[in-house]
Amino acid sequence: MLDFEFMSPTQFVFGRGVEEKVGDKLAERGAKKVLLHFGGQSAVRSGLIDRVCASLDAAGVECVKLGGVRPNPEIELVREGVALCKKEGVDWVLAVGGGSVIDSAKAIANGACIEEDVWELFTTKRPNANVLPIAVVLTIPAAGSEASKNTVISNDALGMKTGYGNEHQRPKLAFMNPELTFTLPPYQTAAGITDMFCHLLERFFDDVDAVPVTDNLNLSLMRTVRAEAPRVLADPEDYEARANIMWAGMLCHQGLAGVGRHEDWATHGLEHELSAFDTSITHGAGLACLFPAWMEHVHAENPARLAYYGREVFGLAPTGDVCADALSAADETRQFFASLGMPTTLTELGIGEDEIDKAIEKMIPTLKKNKGEVFGSFKKLTMEDAEEIYRSAV
Ligand code: NAP
Ligand code: FE
Repeated sequence: MLDFEFMSPTQFVFGRGVEEKVGDKLAERGAKKVLLHFGGQSAVRSGLIDRVCASLDAAGVECVKLGGVRPNPEIELVREGVALCKKEGVDWVLAVGGGSVIDSAKAIANGACIEEDVWELFTTKRPNANVLPIAVVLTIPAAGSEASKNTVISNDALGMKTGYGNEHQRPKLAFMNPELTFTLPPYQTAAGITDMFCHLLERFFDDVDAVPVTDNLNLSLMRTVRAEAPRVLADPEDYEARANIMWAGMLCHQGLAGVGRHEDWATHGLEHELSAFDTSITHGAGLACLFPAWMEHVHAENPARLAYYGREVFGLAPTGDVCADALSAADETRQFFASLGMPTTLTELGIGEDEIDKAIEKMIPTLKKNKGEVFGSFKKLTMEDAEEIYRSAV
């Protein structure tokens, strides 16, 4: 087991109606004026924003609103939020939405406390301990940003999408009501489930030997997500299944499922280029196409690890040929994502044989800028490897 540091400062408030407690909980922590940050439509349409405002109002917490966060959130709205926080003297940022809104809120919370343009943090990756405290009302279980140390932001002008990790931007409060997820379209439910499952895969495959306490936790979460996924898709208002998926999404990414390991994160790196190239691509859908392709590309590095995953999560029986077992595990992963309604090829996402050359030409230089000459841990990938994986996913 590698040495590690782990911090999880988030207080979770979980269950039916918890959004009604937002005002009191924030007031308890001394919040005076919050930036209420939200997305395109769903939280307004459902009345959630009005309910959260009423709760803030009842608790005497002032609020400044900034909506309009798009999926794959963009730096321009972040800059707008930073300026608003500075002008209004905001002391907390409250995100109501999914990973995109939370990530945008995290970037704003950083930017509001520093002098330089907030994009600098994404390019220099310099540490920053000055961050406004963040609270979250989660509406889609997926990115795990409600407790994670990361934010991912797109910069359309530069054609980039890149992450920034900072322990100080982990949310302090997360309100999680599974009923708020009943309205999710099946595609978003499935993409969210795919993303959380991939957060476990990124942690399970690296160059470190077994870490049983971490690995068994991880495998148990994979089995749980796999079992609950068909239940939420079959009945979107199955509270128990929604609740299990929602809590799992957090556990998949707050960090415990990877402690003592290096973790890999190559596939997320590959996907970020894809959704920067075409901002209409949903993160989870991009991962569904790329993760099995990555597994096939790298399986020879440590086929026993992939075969072990296939046995533990999908119940695959060993055939005596460990490489064949590893490839079966990759294929089972693809079939699992397909069973949720996710695409299995980039062609389905609009990047087919005719488009892939143009996409590669755009993605590889920014990938190199984001990741350096080599990246990943299970196998150190070069830019040639990256290109092969993209092409094999077409
Ligand atoms: P999202 O982009 O926040 O939301 C996806 C869509 O779902 C939006 O169109 C949103 O619509 C809709 N939606 C959300 N809640 C809904 C509800 N309750 N009912 C109906 N529709 C709802 O999804 P996400 O998967 O959570 O976030 C994806 C982003 O997170 C990507 O940019 C990805 O790269 C990033 N990410 C971050 C981390 C991290 O650690 N920070 C990790 C992995 C991925 P409205 O806009 O209308 O609300
Ligand atoms: Fe992700």
